[in-house]
Amino acid sequence: MKSQLRWVLMCSVVAMCVVNHQVWTAEKAPTIKVLIVDGAQKYHKPQDTTPVLKEMLEATGRFSVDVSTAPKKPSADYKPDFAAYQVIVINEGFGSKPWPKATEESFEAYMKNGGGMVSYHAADNAWPKWKAYNEMTGVGGWAGRNEKWGPYLYMDENGKVIRDTKAGKGGSHGSQTEFEITVRDTEHPITKGLPKTFKHGPDEMYAFLRGPAQNVTILATAHSDKGNRGSGHEEPMLMAITWGKGRIFHTVLGHHVKQIKRGSFVTTFVRGTEWAATGKVTIPVPEGFPDQPFTSKP
Ligand code: ZN
Repeated sequence: MKSQLRWVLMCSVVAMCVVNHQVWTAEKAPTIKVLIVDGAQKYHKPQDTTPVLKEMLEATGRFSVDVSTAPKKPSADYKPDFAAYQVIVINEGFGSKPWPKATEESFEAYMKNGGGMVSYHAADNAWPKWKAYNEMTGVGGWAGRNEKWGPYLYMDENGKVIRDTKAGKGGSHGSQTEFEITVRDTEHPITKGLPKTFKHGPDEMYAFLRGPAQNVTILATAHSDKGNRGSGHEEPMLMAITWGKGRIFHTVLGHHVKQIKRGSFVTTFVRGTEWAATGKVTIPVPEGFPDQPFTSKP
């Protein structure tokens, strides 16, 4: 009788494992639904970059991507269904028209409840007056930003995080150059497995970004050269931020199409988007990183 019971128990444990395995496999497989939101703005052309961002995400086999473009003339009818997606990629920028109040509120509710967001390049220039949005990007630049928006966030040469509250404007960049990116958090899912340093560019290197700078983990930095109108500091290039239950990946890289086709951008962007959506990263760092061709799987 006893051995019969043991046998039954063993069978149920095996059955549970099989079921769990199926559940695990099933959970791993589903495609992540991404919404890229863009709209008219100064200095950047989302009509060029959005299709390339969509292409690189879908090339991984991990994402399916929809696009929502805000109307040139703000309209109360503009209300994307954020809740239908696991992550919203923001491809807005300097001069982007504010969203209708109800749309802002629905986005805040989506993020508060555990949504995902990616702030791509100039997205941290957008919407200086939207308080919650500035909290979500952590830091941003231009559009009148100064010390009233929060401290200037950077790292010193020893990798110590500095929040500088002195007065000054937020946001600047010099001429486009190639530069080295240093991973500062080697254990975060987005950066785990990346080389400690890798090349990126030529691209704009943002500096002097300011904002509430709360719940920000600086994942990677680059040295901003004073000789190229820079700060002389280690500037955040990749950041992970939490807001409510939401996760935000913030990359300042990728001015235009040429810059986002670099392997350094592609790999960090797709991994960051996956993390913002799920809190995990399964997309591997490819062989040849950061010089893998754009057409290969990131
Ligand atoms: Zn730019």
